[in-house]
Amino acid sequence: MSKSKVYLENCHAYDVEAIQRIIVDALEYLDVRIPRETSVLLKPNVLSPHPPERHITTHPAVIEAMARLLLDNGNDIVIADSCGQPGGTENALEKSQIAALKTRLGNITVRPMEEYRSRAYSNPRNRFLREVHLPRILDDVECIINLPKLKSHMLVKLTAAVKNLFGCIPGGGKQQAHVMAPSAEEFAELLVELYEFIRPKILINMIDAVVGLDGFGPGTGGRPNPVGFIGLSADAVALDIACCGAIGLDPSLVHTIQLAVDRGLSSGQIETNKDLRPVRFRVPKPFPFRTFLFKHVSGLQRRKPMGITKKCKKCGVCAKVCPAKCIAMDGYPQWDYSECIYCYCCHETCPHAAIRLKISLFV
Ligand code: SF4
Ligand code: SF4
Repeated sequence: MSKSKVYLENCHAYDVEAIQRIIVDALEYLDVRIPRETSVLLKPNVLSPHPPERHITTHPAVIEAMARLLLDNGNDIVIADSCGQPGGTENALEKSQIAALKTRLGNITVRPMEEYRSRAYSNPRNRFLREVHLPRILDDVECIINLPKLKSHMLVKLTAAVKNLFGCIPGGGKQQAHVMAPSAEEFAELLVELYEFIRPKILINMIDAVVGLDGFGPGTGGRPNPVGFIGLSADAVALDIACCGAIGLDPSLVHTIQLAVDRGLSSGQIETNKDLRPVRFRVPKPFPFRTFLFKHVSGLQRRKPMGITKKCKKCGVCAKVCPAKCIAMDGYPQWDYSECIYCYCCHETCPHAAIRLKISLFV
């Protein structure tokens, strides 16, 4: 398999015209042509209902830049995603100012992914997604443009192009997926299985790393970090590898990368138009005792989700999203750690950053 091309360009502001110029140059470098007058699904990251300045969701300027080029190309555009809170996508599209693009651009559709009828995708070789129901829009459009946001992730270290597709699983299906594949390695395998289903329709992946989110991401626990670039590739795995390079992260720590290469979904070899100087970007580190103890005693150390009483608004979102149903609302949330699968969905979706992750032994 040959090297995959990735186009990287410095970009320090959400300037729609400047981003459009980057896309045009990138498509030429990558030798990708967007077919005229076809239907295109734009898949941003709309994790939760937050404004663009929190940098939890793909910035609307990045989506607008791509959408304006598509409109000039005569394409029909649908923007869709399914957020982390079942039933919350409409609100998330509003708050992230992605829904407002419809008013600004006119003839486009912005819709929660879960409002589309679904169809079954199956692959008997898969360990987790032997059969999965995904929205028909993934099939109905002629191509998909994946628009991830660069963020740290408590479970799989990094959310970039491959991880962004998890939002194609509608509503509560995401919680079921976490129960099926609870460990970081298992969840990464499930993500790669999902990527394999969607990959044939993906024309291009473009990452918003103008401002990323590091630290305890990918939700309100994260910290905006002005990474300062936009990256594009037809190969989502290659784009993830290039992102690792741009933030000084060893790609072997991102399990989806090697799993996708082993599955033949990418060569894992990349060619870029330029090298970016790596910026400091904090992702969850392996635990300090991992090398000599953790390997032998699985589950010895964990980051335990715990409520921060003075920040908690008792909204109950954590209990609603918990796949293991181990959070009970008794005024404030109460955790039953014996049932917890440590997926960190509660931490990721708490709207008020009221959940901390405490390193614990023998949980
Ligand atoms: S911890 Fe967060 S999500 Fe849970 S009830 Fe409190 S504010 Fe809501
Ligand atoms: S309590 Fe939090 S980390 Fe544990 S299973 Fe529920 S959502 Fe996941």
